[in-house]
Amino acid sequence: MSTAVVVGSGPNGLAAAVFLAREGLDVTVLEAADTIGGGTRTSELTPGLLHDHCSATHPMAVGSPFLRSLDLGRHGLVWRLPDIDCVHPLDSGEAGVLHRSVRETAEGLGERDGRGWRRVFGPLAEGYDALAEDLMRPLAHVPRHPLRLAAFGPRALLPAAVVARRWRTESARALFAGVAAHAFRPFDRPASAAVGLTIIAAGHRHGWPVAAGGSRAIADALAARLTEFGGRIETGVRVRSLADLPPADVVMFDLAPRAVADVLGDRLPRRVARAYRRYRHGPGAFKVDFAVQDGVPWSNEAARRAGTVHLGGNYAEVAAGERAIHEGRMPERPFVLVGQQYLADPGRSKGDIHPVWTYAHVPHGYDGDATAAVVAQIERFAPGFRERILDRAVRPPSGFEEYNPNYVGGDIVAGANTAFQLVMRPRAALDPYSTGVPGMYICSAATPPGAGAHGMCGANAAASALRGLRR
Ligand SMILES: Cc1cc2nc3c(=O)[nH]c(=O)nc-3n(C[C@H](O)[C@H](O)[C@H](O)COP(=O)(O)OP(=O)(O)OC[C@H]3O[C@@H](n4cnc5c(N)ncnc54)[C@H](O)[C@@H]3O)c2cc1C
Repeated sequence: MSTAVVVGSGPNGLAAAVFLAREGLDVTVLEAADTIGGGTRTSELTPGLLHDHCSATHPMAVGSPFLRSLDLGRHGLVWRLPDIDCVHPLDSGEAGVLHRSVRETAEGLGERDGRGWRRVFGPLAEGYDALAEDLMRPLAHVPRHPLRLAAFGPRALLPAAVVARRWRTESARALFAGVAAHAFRPFDRPASAAVGLTIIAAGHRHGWPVAAGGSRAIADALAARLTEFGGRIETGVRVRSLADLPPADVVMFDLAPRAVADVLGDRLPRRVARAYRRYRHGPGAFKVDFAVQDGVPWSNEAARRAGTVHLGGNYAEVAAGERAIHEGRMPERPFVLVGQQYLADPGRSKGDIHPVWTYAHVPHGYDGDATAAVVAQIERFAPGFRERILDRAVRPPSGFEEYNPNYVGGDIVAGANTAFQLVMRPRAALDPYSTGVPGMYICSAATPPGAGAHGMCGANAAASALRGLRR
């Protein structure tokens, strides 16, 4: 029986492990932390309330071709949808409101912008599952749905600023900007529209669900599936060099490229080592989890029913903030994401005290304290919020890196989303998962299709490893 070792138990490490174990390999996962899950951990960061440490909202995971193939519901993974997926409030009191339904979203954006929204996202949402089969694989493959890909590709390669010109109202422009900002990329850069278009399309197809009991349910379900296939997980094992690895036919690294270069040392071909060390990381995240009495008192009614609220004012302000963090400047009013997962999953609360998940976009490696800026952004759209805060847990960029070395400088999307790295991560190669060392692969979100708790990087890398093994 062939053996495999997977280093790291994030969603991609676990997906790779399940893939290989399902194919009959004897799989062991080695995880540095005491708990599994990487970016899919949940615990009581404040007493009695369940907080997601990292990922919270899962339009990408719920639509992931690999996760969907695993029947994880049998292992307790239940998706719960909020009433409204996402709201982007403005100072005027108006808001861009993203519903699962394209029609409902369009109706809220007025006649002209609604028509534009329908035109862009109607076909994308309808064909999303087919499109995902191509988008979630490395560039060098024969497309399964070439026409859909050909329709999506040119628009995705545009700067977000160009796509946003399609809409005239502040609400529609801000709504698009808030989702485009998930790329952590200035809006005038090529391909900065890609991430926003994909997340909106995925949401219109599957919604923006949360996992019942917290995102850790994703890791727990994958771990249960792994156990079913005979695999095992050891926690508290940090792999620093090849000497820390047991002998195996296949090794999968759920790590940042630089960490893979450190572990493989001289074994790594020079050109690969150079590419891994040059791999670029993007701006950081500054996270604050709150315990809030009676929830956030949003002025905008729709925001009170939304799983996610994007804060940053109008398009121009969000665009300026994203540019500033890219240039290493901390904006006075950063873009802030707020998660109200408890609305769809009330079991995370303690009576009327609710967990509220937030993070601000900050410069790479930012070492200041953004807590006051986060509170001020929420207070701006929810006067009285400050008085409702009972407790908080703060994680700055350095804390993220300490928590999980994959988050270099607080970069939570595993690498700058430059046009090159969007399609060629972590290096230009026909097989981006191969490290060039026989039997050794990188499977983290620094590989295609990039960040998210969808497990597709792990599944793709495992497929590549299997092909290598059978050659
Ligand atoms: C604040 C935040 C919010 C996010 N929000 C969302 C969201 O809402 N939706 C979404 O889809 N995605 C979100 N993400 C992104 C998502 O969590 C990541 O893209 C995803 O977790 C990447 O998975 P991975 O398996 O590649 O790596 P990770 O999840 O980073 O897992 C890597 C694992 O490897 C372990 N490890 C590291 N070094 C070693 C070593 N040397 N030896 C052994 N083990 C090691 C780590 O402890 C970790 O468990 C968010 C991330 C953060 C931080």
